[in-house]
Order: sequence, then C-alpha cells, then structure tokens
Amino acid sequence: MTGLRVEGVTKHYRVELPREDALSVLRRFFSGRSPSREFKALDGVSFELRPGSALALCGPNGSGKTTLLKALAGIAEPSGGRISFSGKTACLLGFASILQDRLSVKENARLCAVFFELPGAPAENAERIMAEAGLQHLRNARAGELSTGMRLRLPFMAALASGADLLLIDETLAVGDEDFRRRCLARLGELKRAGAMLVFATHDSALARALADEALVLEAGRAVYRGPAAAMPRPGAAEPPGTAFRRGLDRYAILYDKLKAEGFALQESAPATDEDLLLVHNPAWLARLKANDLTPGEEEALALPFSKKIFPLAWRMAGGTLTAARRALAGGLGIFPAGGGHHAFPDRGEGFCPVNDMAIAARRLLAEGAVKRPAVIDLDAHQGNGTAFIFSGGEVKTFSAHKADGYPRLRVRSTMDVDIPAGSADGAYLAAVKKGIKDFLDLAKPDLVFALCTADAYERDPLGGLAVSAAGLEERDRFLFEELAARNIPACLLLGGAYSEPAETAEINFKTVRAAAAACPSSDKIVSV
Ligand SMILES: [Zn+2]
Repeated sequence: MTGLRVEGVTKHYRVELPREDALSVLRRFFSGRSPSREFKALDGVSFELRPGSALALCGPNGSGKTTLLKALAGIAEPSGGRISFSGKTACLLGFASILQDRLSVKENARLCAVFFELPGAPAENAERIMAEAGLQHLRNARAGELSTGMRLRLPFMAALASGADLLLIDETLAVGDEDFRRRCLARLGELKRAGAMLVFATHDSALARALADEALVLEAGRAVYRGPAAAMPRPGAAEPPGTAFRRGLDRYAILYDKLKAEGFALQESAPATDEDLLLVHNPAWLARLKANDLTPGEEEALALPFSKKIFPLAWRMAGGTLTAARRALAGGLGIFPAGGGHHAFPDRGEGFCPVNDMAIAARRLLAEGAVKRPAVIDLDAHQGNGTAFIFSGGEVKTFSAHKADGYPRLRVRSTMDVDIPAGSADGAYLAAVKKGIKDFLDLAKPDLVFALCTADAYERDPLGGLAVSAAGLEERDRFLFEELAARNIPACLLLGGAYSEPAETAEINFKTVRAAAAACPSSDKIVSV
C-alpha cells in the first residue's frame, strides 16, 4: 500500500461581501464589479502520511479542516497543488445524510454496507454492522426513532469494516456515548496496526493525542503546526485573532458587575468628534473606516471580524479615553476599560486597534493647553508601535514594556522600550518593569500619564507570550499607581486587550482598577464605558 502525499494544496472560493448601503450599490453598478472577494479556504497545505499512521486535523471552525477532508475524499477539486494516493478511501463526512429515517435499522445497515462497498453478501454485512454498532436488538425499529448518536453508529461501523486504506472522518468521532467511543477507538487502533491510514478532524486535543501520530493545526486555511500530536500547541494558540478579541469583549460585562458591586459608578461618555480623530489620523483612513471600505489587506492587519459593528466603536473608544483623561486631570484618576489602541498608526489600524485613542486624547489636551507633558506608560505584552510612531518627534514621551519578539513585527522605537524575554515569569518581569517605570518617570516628568495596564502578560493568555501570574500583575499595577500618586501625577487608566478566559481577565482587570483607586483617594470612582 502506498502512503498519502499532499503537496501545496490550495482551495479558493469567491465569496460575496455584505454591502448594503446605497453608495456601495451605486459604485458597484458603475464599476461593473461584483462585491466579491477571493477566500482562501486552503492555502498551500502539505503533509505526508505513512501506511499505519493517523493524522489529526485541528483548528477552529472555518480553519479549513472540512475543506481539506473533502479535497482528500475527491469531493472538492483543489485549486492548486497535488494529492497523491492510490487505494480505497472511505469517508465519513456529514454522513448522517445517507441514513433513511423511515427505513428500519436493519435496512439502513444494508444501505451502509452497499454505500461503503463492503465485500461479501449485504445481509451478512448488515448483521455484522449491527453487531458492532450494538444495535441488533433494535433491528426492526425505524432509524428515525433512534437518537442521532445511535444512528451514526451504523455508517461508522460500516466504514470501519469496508477495508479502506484511507479513512477520512469529520467530527463524528465525538458522537455517541463513552462505551461506543471506546469501541471505535479500539477498532481504529486495530485498523491502523493492519496498515490503514486515518485522517480525522477534531476539536478534542486529548482525542488527537490519544489516536493520532501527527497533528496538523490549521488557521485560516494555512498549516500553523505540523508535528507530533503530543507536542501540539494548546488550544487558543491556533485560533484566529478575532476569536480572542471577542473573548476580550466578553470580559467587560463581568468586570462592570464587579466594579458596580465595589461601589464604582459606570458612566457612558460621548463619542469623540471627527476633529478629535483628525488630530492624529489622516482623513482618508477615517473616511474608509466610516464607509467600511477597507482593503482585504487592511482588514487582515486590523484582525477584526464583523467590521461594520466594530468601526463606530472607534469613535466611542477615542471619546471614552478623552473623557477619562479629563477626569484624571480633575480628580487624579480616570478609568476607561475599553481604551488602549496602541497599534494604530495615523493612516492605518493594526492588531485590533482602528484608532489610537491615547494619542488622540493627548493631542486634544495639548491643543487645549490642559497639559504640557503628557506621557504614555504601555504595559501591554505587545510593543506600542503605533503610539511610538505618532510621537516619534518627542511631543509626548512614550514607554513600552513588552515581550522581546513576536507581534508586532514592525516595531517603532519608543522614548524608552523594555524588551522582556518571552516566557518571563513574575521575578524577571516585575524587576524589569518596575525599574523601567521609575527611570521613565524620572526622565519624562509627566503632568498626565496614560497607563495601559493590559492583562495579556498573564501566564494563561494565548497571545501575550509572557508567564506573569495574576498576583504578579496586581503587584505591577499597585506599584505603578503608588509611584504615580507619590509623584502627584494624574493617571488615565486603560485596560486594553485580554485574551484568556473572560472570568480570569475580568478579575485581573478588576484588581488593577481597585489598585489605581486605592492609590488615589481623591478619585470620584467613576468608570467610563
Ligand atoms: Zn497586546
């Protein structure tokens, strides 16, 4: 038997873009172009599989697992690349559809035997399938009366009995009870030992490790990991960034409840005006944001899904930070949890940040003469490249303490940067950050600090790449706000992104707000939302 060889397989589709506004309809009419975009369901995927081995396909929904299975099964024609395999294939992809609800279990078992081309007489094969599925006692029941999990046992067992050299299985391994699942795994193990190959898609990393020799992790159609299943990256590491961003949004509701219970008042602030945003951003970028008219490249850089809902938030985000900064000047502390767009440049957004709210607020307050030396202290795990770029002329001093490599690829030198080695835990992290903060405050002598106290340096954050404990982050923020209070510097606290479990990050954010308020007894305990 030969192995399976997949070389640079791509699969492209054209997808319609949702454009409802009249202007876009007109533009489309006159340009004669349909508002579609090429979607790469698979983008240069390669792997090899030897006889007697199993490959787990992992990755979030929409990452290309099913498309790859369909291409292997010959159901979908790849747009490019090559699949080499000669032998019998059995595929179990959404295969519930071959079952007929009105036929009996026995008749369905025969149907499966025919469908999967089991060698031998259909009647005998049907008996064998029913026996292996544990459904003999239900032979005369209508299939429609059985639960989905029970019904699916029939095609599953038929496929396993088909003598196929290559088995392609979608999420079906997860159906059925423990007992059935155990039997399936045992049967698949036997088939493997007899030389069969198995490619299965799963969200269950424990199952992948138990059954597969190798794992292929897909993200947006591309292979981001290929290697031993046991060494597969933990879930979360391979999600599309939008998923992590949405988890970050989920934490706000939990955080707000905690703050209310602690006696903080939530107050909605007005969105910033176009004039405010134009202090930092160029008109073309703002116009494209408003019209939801970003190029695919721009959307990819921004990494935000569902752009129509997100972009009005850019004006709200800038308004919230400006309001909180004014509150800081009035009472010593302003708080806006949703602020911190430090990756936004004047003419483009990056990494979840459509606009740079800190830069906008700083420029607005400078223009009004409300401050002379505002500064930014950025403790996000990723370098504050947009802020550093905007203020590279030195008009606002910037400090960024972040993981030494990785995102963002394009770094811009801040007034002071502290590179912290990937994976640093409390000791190394806190020592570097505390020293950096002191040195920076000595140098900048600010009259207002925008403090970006993000929780993504947290050890369980999938995007941060540092290993700081929740207690370590609390110590960091207590240190910062006590230092600012000791120097009589008003602080505008922003919490930025956080991508681990919402309940955990809400708790870390809550402790940051509490630490800031404790260091500033004159604070009005109002949180901008
Ligand atoms: Zn970050």
